[in-house]
Formats: sequence, structure tokens, C-alpha cells
Amino acid sequence: MNDSLNKVTELLRELPGIGPRQARRLSFWFMRKDARWVETFARSILEARKGIHTCPMCTRLYEAGPHDSGTCRTCEDTSRDAGLLLIVEKDVDLENIERTGTYRGLYFVLGGTTGPLDKQPEKHIRIDGLIRRLREPATPVREVIFALSATTEGEDTAAYVRERIERTLPQHTFKLSELGRGLSTGTELEYVDADTMRSALERRT
Ligand SMILES: [Zn+2]
Repeated sequence: MNDSLNKVTELLRELPGIGPRQARRLSFWFMRKDARWVETFARSILEARKGIHTCPMCTRLYEAGPHDSGTCRTCEDTSRDAGLLLIVEKDVDLENIERTGTYRGLYFVLGGTTGPLDKQPEKHIRIDGLIRRLREPATPVREVIFALSATTEGEDTAAYVRERIERTLPQHTFKLSELGRGLSTGTELEYVDADTMRSALERRT
């Protein structure tokens, strides 16, 4: 098979959850599609991608408007309490907590989870970015609140992040807390409702 098809297969393999065989099957599938459809497909991804930026403060993805300030709307909102930093795993967790309207501080999106067997945690979570953010003198933090899933992965991740903070920033003056678990075990923040979130924030320890 020719090089350009191999290239497509190689690129598709980078998609989450796609193995070599599926990548091959998908690349053949694309080749059977109408050329105009493929063009629309490729162009829509490209156009969406161009408008999306990573916020340097919280690392979430956001759609930049014509007057992009360089950070997302949440981070640039001066009516929020900039001393509170809520740590979540994923962009969707942040989105859902925002939807509940119960939290008025800032966020940091870790980007994943880690565990005791993970040899390269910095590849799976943005721990270095978080440390940089906590060191930033322009945006002093008063309290770091862990809002990770109430699962083993979430707990292991919080333990690792706490340990890294204590080790890298031993002189820190901010408080470390975590959401009170009105959230039943396994409840993901992605689905949390306003009442549960409000009570988890109030009962943080
Ligand atoms: Zn942001």
C-alpha cells in the first residue's frame, strides 16, 4: 500500500482508544468516502482547532473570541475569588461545576490521573504546570481545593499532587483541602448536581 495511506494510518493511531488494526480499517474507510466529504471533514476539524486555545492559567481549552485576552473567560473574570484554586481532572468536570453555579474561585485542569505504579506521572497530569501556577507571584493562592473523582484513581492522584506540592513548595502558605464527600463513592464530578456540589464545597476539609 502507498505511503500516503500509511501516513493516514499512522496519524489515526494517535487517536485515543485506536489500535493499529482499527487505524488501518479507518484509513480504508476514509478512502472509500466521497472526496468532498473528506475535505469537509478535514476542514471542519482544522477550523474548530484554529479557534480553540489552551488557557495558560487553568490549562482548559477555550474558544477565543475576536478580542481574545489570552486567558479563558473564567480566569479573566475579576469578580471571582482568585485566592481559591479548584483542581479538577478534566475540562468536562470544570464545565459541569460551572454549570452548577456553586463555585466562584478559579480552576486548574490536571488533564488526567496518576497512580502509585505510574513511572512518569508528569506525562499523564500537568503537575509541572500546576507547580508553576502556584509559584506565580502575580496570582497568589490562599487555598487549593482538590475536586478529583471519588475513585481510587482520583484519590491516588490527589495524594501524588499533595506530595509533590509539599516537596517542591515546602514554604507554601496556602491551605490544601478537599471536597467533602456528599459525593457517593464513584460519583464523577462530570455528573454532579448543584446541591451535591454546594454541600461538598461547604463541607470541604
Ligand atoms: Zn483559564
